[in-house]
Amino acid sequence: MTVEQTLVLIKPDGLEKSLTGNILTRLSETRLEIAGARIVRVSKELAETHYAALKDQPFFQELIDYIIGKFHGKRKVMALVYHGENAISKVREICGATNPEEADPRSIRGAYGRITTSGIFENAIHASANPEEAEREIKLWFCPDEVVYNIYPVKETKVKSVKLLAWA
Ligand code: UDP
Ligand code: MG
Repeated sequence: MTVEQTLVLIKPDGLEKSLTGNILTRLSETRLEIAGARIVRVSKELAETHYAALKDQPFFQELIDYIIGKFHGKRKVMALVYHGENAISKVREICGATNPEEADPRSIRGAYGRITTSGIFENAIHASANPEEAEREIKLWFCPDEVVYNIYPVKETKVKSVKLLAWA
């Protein structure tokens, strides 16, 4: 048994269909802990970095448009870190197959996903596929401070001359 962390995204279709609560309830069946959660407005750059491995796929451009929220009223995703024993495979299993029409109907994608007429898999949720992907994705979407258990090494750093928004 290995303690792992995995990245979950509730994709724009999931948010637009008000499925957040349902999806979190399904994920709680895994008995894993949520170690981080953010609502994120996804830039094109973040989307392209997240899906960099798929850049030669014919559906890449539509996938980027989908994940930045172009097809949905809500231009945001919910990003989560799930933590616990075998977190990666437990979450992948409850998500179901990539193609929502082929996914087990009792899985999250089987229950809530669809294929659009232009062929995009709107499958409501993303989950990291393996430990390397999980580490890369968690580090892309979260800072160490935003995750309550850090399983990857961290270092202290001082940031100078960086413009940040503050409450006025
Ligand atoms: N995707 C798609 N058509 C395909 C394969 C994938 O639209 O034929 C989309 C779908 O949203 C999927 C994402 O691209 O979730 C990433 O694909 P991947 O093969 O990594 O599947 P996943 O890891 O999400 O199951
Ligand atoms: Mg994948």
